[in-house]
Amino acid sequence: MSFHSMWAELLPVGRSSASGGYRRFAWTGADAECRAWFEDQARTRGLACETDRNGNQWAWLGDPAAGDAVVTGSHLDSVPDGGAFDGPLGVVSAFAALDELRRRGARFARPLAIVNFGDEEGARFGLACVGSRLTAGALTVEDAHRLTDGDGITLPEAMEAAGYDPEAIGPDPERLARVGAYVELHVEQGRALDLTGDAVGVASAIWPHGRWRFDFRGEANHAGTTRLADRSDPMMSYAETVLAARREAELAGAVATFGKIAVEPNGVNAIPSLVRGWLDSRAADQHSLDTVVTGIEKAAREYAAAHGVDLDVVRESFTPVVEFDHALRDELARVLGKDTGLTVPVLGTGAGHDAGILSARVPTAMLFVRNPTGVSHSPAESAAEDDCVAGVLALADVLEGLACT
Ligand SMILES: [Zn+2]
Repeated sequence: MSFHSMWAELLPVGRSSASGGYRRFAWTGADAECRAWFEDQARTRGLACETDRNGNQWAWLGDPAAGDAVVTGSHLDSVPDGGAFDGPLGVVSAFAALDELRRRGARFARPLAIVNFGDEEGARFGLACVGSRLTAGALTVEDAHRLTDGDGITLPEAMEAAGYDPEAIGPDPERLARVGAYVELHVEQGRALDLTGDAVGVASAIWPHGRWRFDFRGEANHAGTTRLADRSDPMMSYAETVLAARREAELAGAVATFGKIAVEPNGVNAIPSLVRGWLDSRAADQHSLDTVVTGIEKAAREYAAAHGVDLDVVRESFTPVVEFDHALRDELARVLGKDTGLTVPVLGTGAGHDAGILSARVPTAMLFVRNPTGVSHSPAESAAEDDCVAGVLALADVLEGLACT
């Protein structure tokens, strides 16, 4: 089955006719359809398909117990109204790369597995990479049990309703011990490859990133009768802080975003008593990120003081920098540059991935495929078919170098 026909088969699954975006949330009907598609692809190729204790799907060529397996894949779930490429490109490319290797008559010296990690985007329960985190022991069973979706359904309830055993979830060191290398192909979520003019690149690292909650507390009052001079308006200091975030990020070559806000009492004709804004910031290194966030907080405190507003800042989550395995990364760059003699771009990314979670346990690398607009987590996310095919061939080269004699 060609890349094109696999892609076409998966394309309508979980697509909203209203937005054109994907709603493939963990443990829902669309997720089940994606999983059935995965099993079907495995079966068609004579691969042994299994679902691990955390709901991740594995399709094996060769004996898993032999160890030192080369594993490739990604995820099939999506963010709300996500694009077609984020995740599925890696899974479809994995099957297509295996087909390519068989066409080449490659002889496998190591077991190969294709994986579909469950609940990567965290769209339903608010935590990304649940499947790989559980497997790697980066999420405790207790914390996983507490995850709840917008309808009050817990993760165990959702898993059980989808036909899985939630009592089984937990760290899976034995499974990870069988993995010698994990390579994830992913659509680029930025324009670096478009700017260098390359179809495929290799990841260097995932930027450190965190989320901070800024609570600006002022005084609710009448929007019509309260003199400007008499107001303690937290929206003012919040707005100035948003501008400061942009300035600080620009200075450091980082990114900073206030993308979510809650206002109380949230009335058109009321000065707010509380403005709660969530900052997401990421940078190439820890020092730059610290500089950005410290700068934003300092500015926010000055603005709050100037408006007679109280400010609390709470760090809600933080993920340190993930450096991909240097030897594996260099091997990828070598294999991909071999035929052309050209240097393959090696780029950092501000987005999290299962590969980032697994990198703490197994040697891990990533390939990126050019995204001409850089748009991601949106129906406008795209990649040219030629570039997707270049990605498949690059992945096949990499897998051949790692797994074949
Ligand atoms: Zn992804």
